[in-house]
Amino acid sequence: MYQINENYQKLPGSYLFSTIAKKVNAFTQANPDKNIIRLGIGDVTQPIAPAIIEALHKAVDEMADPATFHGYAPDLGYDFLRNAIVKNDYQARGCAIEADEIFVSDGAKSDSGNIQELFGPDIRIAVCDPVYPVYVDSNVMAGRTGTYNPDTQMWSNVIYMPCTRENNFVPEFPKETPDVIYLCLPNNPTGTTITKAQLQEWVDYANKEGALIIYDGAYEAYISEADVAHTIYECEGAQTCAIEIKSFSKNAGFTGVRLGYTVVPKDLKCNGVSLHDMWARRHGTKFNGAPYIVQRAGEAVYSEAGKAQLKEQVAYYMKNASVIKTGLKEAGFEVFGGVNAPYIWLKTPEQMTSWDFFDYLLENANVVGTPGSGFGPSGEGYFRLTAFGTYENSVAALERIKAL
Ligand code: PLP
Repeated sequence: MYQINENYQKLPGSYLFSTIAKKVNAFTQANPDKNIIRLGIGDVTQPIAPAIIEALHKAVDEMADPATFHGYAPDLGYDFLRNAIVKNDYQARGCAIEADEIFVSDGAKSDSGNIQELFGPDIRIAVCDPVYPVYVDSNVMAGRTGTYNPDTQMWSNVIYMPCTRENNFVPEFPKETPDVIYLCLPNNPTGTTITKAQLQEWVDYANKEGALIIYDGAYEAYISEADVAHTIYECEGAQTCAIEIKSFSKNAGFTGVRLGYTVVPKDLKCNGVSLHDMWARRHGTKFNGAPYIVQRAGEAVYSEAGKAQLKEQVAYYMKNASVIKTGLKEAGFEVFGGVNAPYIWLKTPEQMTSWDFFDYLLENANVVGTPGSGFGPSGEGYFRLTAFGTYENSVAALERIKAL
């Protein structure tokens, strides 16, 4: 008789976005005449930029010709893409990352969920609270998080670093020393981030304590302030303590195309063992490479035309962010984020819980957002709206909210 991985049984409830979908479906069925505006899930709405579509078409045509057909891609990624990534995302910023330290993948969700396979069963992770739920859940599945307390919504073996308006959403060094620290900056869901000087403190802390930082930079393209680092490798010493995960989903609209990469520096060692070699081994065994046509599309992200078109796309979403943020402030809400990230984080009014505010907004303004408590216990009493909708919908949603 086989046995299941009992750790899966420990995962509480259903995934945040499926709960939202159920509630929205029930509301739509009961109110078929209502026009719902969705500013909940962090999916993009703008089409893929023309320079990228052109590269995709060309690559598809190559697949039709025996002379240019491509089969299995190299496990770790094609050189043309790894070189473009290194040149634009690292060397242009003065970071000494090399092409063979880039591992191309099918997206940041897989990498941020899979990376924990490299760690021992007893390590202690620390996470910002609230944060993208994948870091904790993937460690739950691996049996590292202890027991779950439904009252506090906390795992006994996870170190939570609350990020709230009280500390300006800047994670503080925890009292207990973690082994692995997940930093998602700019942060999903709060839309806030920290300065390069503050990030340097985390790098120094990790090097001193022998901890590893998993740095998720999925929203890097939205950074607008000069004192914010675009990669953790801008900080001195990061190559001996940090892995960086990046996505093409939010900067280039690849949520349905699927492409990402992870940087594992060769200098990163745990008791003399190279994490770079371990991740290469893992990739070689469990991943058969991102598709050729998608990697060609990724290369076009770094072309001159691609960069110009994507700059406009990011500006489009950030204009939405500004509309949402300004409108919420005018309506009397306390609002955060939306400057270096496409997320606006608001304090729920009159001490409403996050889910109560979700229902209130759905029923009275027919606007869907995301309850902050879905991202961790310190998200309770907050709510996330995304700037990834259309401009027209962002304006209309705010008109409805202001009219409440
Ligand atoms: N990391 C963070 C912080 C995210 O918010 C998301 C998606 O919302 C992802 C990773 C997933 O990215 P990808 O589409 O590349 O899997």
